[in-house]
Amino acid sequence: MTVQKAIDKFVEKTGAKVASYLDACVRCGLCAQACQYHEATGDPRHAPVMKFQPLQQAYQASKDPLSPLWRMIGRAPKKVTEEELSDWQDLIYDSCSMCGRCTLACPMGIDIASLVWVMREGMSEVGLVPPEITKMAHAARDTGSPIGVTAKKLRKILDDVEKKYDVKMHLDKPHAEVLLLDSSLDYEAYQPTLAAMAKILDRLGIDWSFSSKGYEASNLGLFSGEESIARTMVERITEAAEDMGAKTVLAPECGHGYGSIRWEAPNLLGRELPFEVLHIVEFLARMHKEGRLKLKPESRALTYHDPCKLGRRGGVFEEPREMMRDLVTDYREMKPGGVTNWCCGGGGGVVVIESARKLQLESFKIKMDQVEKTGAEGVVMSCAFCHMTFDKSSEHFKWDKKIEDMVQMVERQMID
Ligand code: SF4
Ligand code: SF4
Repeated sequence: MTVQKAIDKFVEKTGAKVASYLDACVRCGLCAQACQYHEATGDPRHAPVMKFQPLQQAYQASKDPLSPLWRMIGRAPKKVTEEELSDWQDLIYDSCSMCGRCTLACPMGIDIASLVWVMREGMSEVGLVPPEITKMAHAARDTGSPIGVTAKKLRKILDDVEKKYDVKMHLDKPHAEVLLLDSSLDYEAYQPTLAAMAKILDRLGIDWSFSSKGYEASNLGLFSGEESIARTMVERITEAAEDMGAKTVLAPECGHGYGSIRWEAPNLLGRELPFEVLHIVEFLARMHKEGRLKLKPESRALTYHDPCKLGRRGGVFEEPREMMRDLVTDYREMKPGGVTNWCCGGGGGVVVIESARKLQLESFKIKMDQVEKTGAEGVVMSCAFCHMTFDKSSEHFKWDKKIEDMVQMVERQMID
């Protein structure tokens, strides 16, 4: 491994914003209590401030305006070694879901998740990405999906879903107003959600379609740190929407997929997007507010889990609550909730990394405790990655809370 390639990437990516974060850290340690992995283990190694140390070291050694002075007086920061970089792999991937909770605790407002992203970019330069993430990111680049759902397979999946769930799946419909995306998790594991989205849109009379040119919402390049893959994924969607002439791109229940096309795409592509991007729940809440979507509440006590990439990093808090208040008679808030909600521990790719399994499960105990304290019979979510984390963790802990998907609930309780 040429450690220098990682260091060069750290330095290249340390622009004014990153440098200001690195300069601002006063090493107070207040971020530690905000991180689920630190709280779950009590291990100081998992404190957020620890996660960007090699980046800070590389910056201080070469880009810090004071570095010539330190060198002159013989106090130059030591160079990042190959061993240190390897030691940091689990902190950068297994121990950070890029949830952004630590930023709320940091008195200097440092966006630690964005520093972890820079670290991941450097790690990917020297092959220090966990193999599961590399495999999925490269499959997404080569086939269109992290699990190999090619355009041809997509057609087959949609045909099967049509028959199984008695729903029309529109594909490559010319001039559709809305381009619908979904993630491979739904294409493969959560097909009832895929079918529910299509049923709702048709019942609302929306002119929508999937596109075989750009159909995958998830963006594994944003997990691995490979910017070129992240760009390819959003390019496909953007080109598909432009070819179709879509006015709106609807992101599915995939928190990071939403962030990818809504927030990252303009930066990755270096231009504004010529269409509106909405998460499916934002769209449903808009329809609900306009009186076009009416719901019949169920007599149940449920709580809602805010997916970090949709809520804390995406700003979508009120819309799911608007839906929850009409979906059930007894909606209960988690504490802390909304912007300070605890991460499920599986985001940022953590849930698919085998070596992170123990840590992810430990951190999930915080989530279970939060849900239990509401006294609700179950928890609703609007992110397939969170859903998978809840499913896998519940199975492990034999936790019997009902795990509900918001889109499926809406489809079930819609009144025509
Ligand atoms: S809270 Fe902010 S300033 Fe304090 S150690 Fe953490 S990152 Fe640094
Ligand atoms: S972004 Fe989330 S997971 Fe990562 S260090 Fe901060 S609190 Fe921990």
